[in-house]
Amino acid sequence: MNTKLLTVIIAIVIVWALVHAVAVWLIRRNTPAEERRKKIRSWLRYWVVCGVIALAVPAVASYVKSQKSADMGNPFFTEWTTPFGVPPWEDLRPEHYKPAFIEGMRIQRAEIDSIVASTAAPTFENVILAYDRSGELYGTVSRVFGALTSADTNDELEAIKNEMSPLQSAHGDAIALDEGLFAKIKAVYDSRATAGLDDAQRRLTERVYQRFVRGGALLDDAQKEELSKINEELSLLSIRFDKNNRDAVIDYRLVIDETDATGLPSGVKERARARAEDEGLGADRLAFNLSKPSWIPFLTASPREDLRKQLYTAWLEQCAQGSAFDNTQIINDMVRLRTRRAHILGYESFADFQLDDKMAKTPARVYEFLDAIWTPALEKATEERDEMLEMKRRESNDSTAVLHSWDWWYYAEKIRKERFNFDEEQARPYFSLENVRSGIFKLCNKLWGISFRPIVAPVYHKDVSVYEVLDIDNSHLGVIYMDFFPRPGKSSGAWCGTFRPQGYTADGGRISPITNIVCNFTEPSGGTPALLSLDETETFFHEFGHALHNLFSDVPYRGLQGTERDFVELPSQIMENWAFQPALLAEYAIHYRSGEAIPARMVERIESSSLFNQGFMTVELLAASLSDMDVHTMKEYSPFVVSDFERYALFTKRGLIPQIEPRYRYPYFSHIFDGGYSAGYYSYIWAEVLDQDAFAAFEESGDIFSRKVADDFRRKILAPRGMRDGMDLYRDFRGAEPSREPLMRGRGLLKEDLPADTLAARHARDLASRPQTAPADSVLRQILGE
Ligand SMILES: [Zn+2]
Repeated sequence: MNTKLLTVIIAIVIVWALVHAVAVWLIRRNTPAEERRKKIRSWLRYWVVCGVIALAVPAVASYVKSQKSADMGNPFFTEWTTPFGVPPWEDLRPEHYKPAFIEGMRIQRAEIDSIVASTAAPTFENVILAYDRSGELYGTVSRVFGALTSADTNDELEAIKNEMSPLQSAHGDAIALDEGLFAKIKAVYDSRATAGLDDAQRRLTERVYQRFVRGGALLDDAQKEELSKINEELSLLSIRFDKNNRDAVIDYRLVIDETDATGLPSGVKERARARAEDEGLGADRLAFNLSKPSWIPFLTASPREDLRKQLYTAWLEQCAQGSAFDNTQIINDMVRLRTRRAHILGYESFADFQLDDKMAKTPARVYEFLDAIWTPALEKATEERDEMLEMKRRESNDSTAVLHSWDWWYYAEKIRKERFNFDEEQARPYFSLENVRSGIFKLCNKLWGISFRPIVAPVYHKDVSVYEVLDIDNSHLGVIYMDFFPRPGKSSGAWCGTFRPQGYTADGGRISPITNIVCNFTEPSGGTPALLSLDETETFFHEFGHALHNLFSDVPYRGLQGTERDFVELPSQIMENWAFQPALLAEYAIHYRSGEAIPARMVERIESSSLFNQGFMTVELLAASLSDMDVHTMKEYSPFVVSDFERYALFTKRGLIPQIEPRYRYPYFSHIFDGGYSAGYYSYIWAEVLDQDAFAAFEESGDIFSRKVADDFRRKILAPRGMRDGMDLYRDFRGAEPSREPLMRGRGLLKEDLPADTLAARHARDLASRPQTAPADSVLRQILGE
């Protein structure tokens, strides 16, 4: 309430009190006692009523006014006049999200209701297209809020997330399970062959129909109700999983003195010292935490086995049973609910449900694929292990010394130095963040003729930079945000998202995409800029590939943006193939201080050591993929001890060697418990078949920067996104299905006597053995009478 209003109210009260006093005085003077009392009472009633009204009117008016001004000041309810319509980050405040969510849901609900209420015969336009266009505000606020809470969250935003999550889940289910809406969608779907639809319209109709079926549209009322409850519970569980995960990372520190830091490269020490100082852990002390840029360099360089063990164990025990941020009951609950959901929808397991609309289609195909790589990879990793064990015994003069999982990075690095005379730390100065970024820009310019221009635009954090992307003809293609360094409030890992997906307005105008990449790279410290490891450099290329997929997108309908999850890593992973090509390194790997280009012998060493340690890297990736599959192919849930289940799946059943842990253990495997990769972590290695085979197209052309092949890749793979199935797009680009051979060769797993087993051959076998009806959903088949 403002002071002006308060003054008015006080004035009214004073005037009212004075008038009242005068009236009482007059009454007391001139009337007999009995009558006087009556009069006083009626006067009192009269003035009380007047007083209440006098006070209430301005208060209500002020409340209405303040509500109105909050709405009017809410950027979600106004048009964004920022450059290219990027989110007005600097004007967005936490209190804006909730009203925007509520209003966004209300509008979409009204849009759906009007589709359902329409008495016109169902057509593509009045049902499918109207549905595709619905929920614009809701989509915007969800994307903006999602981007912010992943990259820069705080308690206030988390509280909003917790409050909104059940409402969002209920809103989504109310649409997914709306019988009136589904009846209309089905009517259009059933007549799709004769309705004169073009390819994109038919594709969208099929996608929408399938999405509704997978969302439970064919279930009875009781099942629908149960499904909604499950969805709501799952959304809350994944928020709790994520929060525990972040809190566990924030909670742990290994703090050491300079004397315990022998062997660590100066850059690593400098960053650890800066961290300790920032966090008030004492001057001249060094702090390491559970983010990868912190613990991996320590494990790689510290000769202190006790400290390596301490730090690596802390990583492995994050959110473990009995810890302060225990995720194991949440995992049990999630697996139970996911399994139940799959059963309701007519699938044997959650993995069966998840894979049904992916390239892989069935768990059997995923297992067949992973198992085929597992054996040679484990053999190679075992050879690597033996070599390290020998080194450890030799160095320690102890023929009974044992090699542990916390030793792997340390001895691998020693062997790499010994065999290839290559110290990764010495490469860092050539990979400053700035230079790597300009290398990626140059690569994109070579391949597609696109260019990047830094722009001043609103950001959600001061570390974020923004670029406009210009197409080959200098027309505006889109905007990319980049956010590189770890901080509390940012999830771990690296990812790419969208603030605004590409699209078309009703009158055919192109809506340009706004994409963002978020990483947790080595930070700058002191006067040293951010110097990336080779792994981080590769990650940057990877995420940029996702961003290009978003930027080059050219689909007519929003519902055709999505691609199969086991296809979506093709655009990203193919970019990794260029990261260390000598021709590109010569252009971007420039020493940040001396300005000298990377020496030829270092390029040679990077190249010759690229197959080094591949056994380990493949096995830790496959182990995580297999543990993901195992927990999600559970046919009947019964409570399980999370660590036992995982140990059994990997060590007992598949003979994983004790020196290697899966890339993520369940309690902090956020890809599969709160990311989008449940029963889908295999996608990375699955897509590697595609990316290696696709990159071979560049090599075969004789020019790895071939504009022609790149243009083909853009037009046939990147631009059409979800317009066709992934394998169809791929075949169109490559003229054939991909071969697994380049993947095996790329990871050094190819034995020359190995029979050539191509995806094409297996796909043909698979087709031959598949029943005629394509959808694997038995419920769907029943309803359609197929
Ligand atoms: Zn990716």
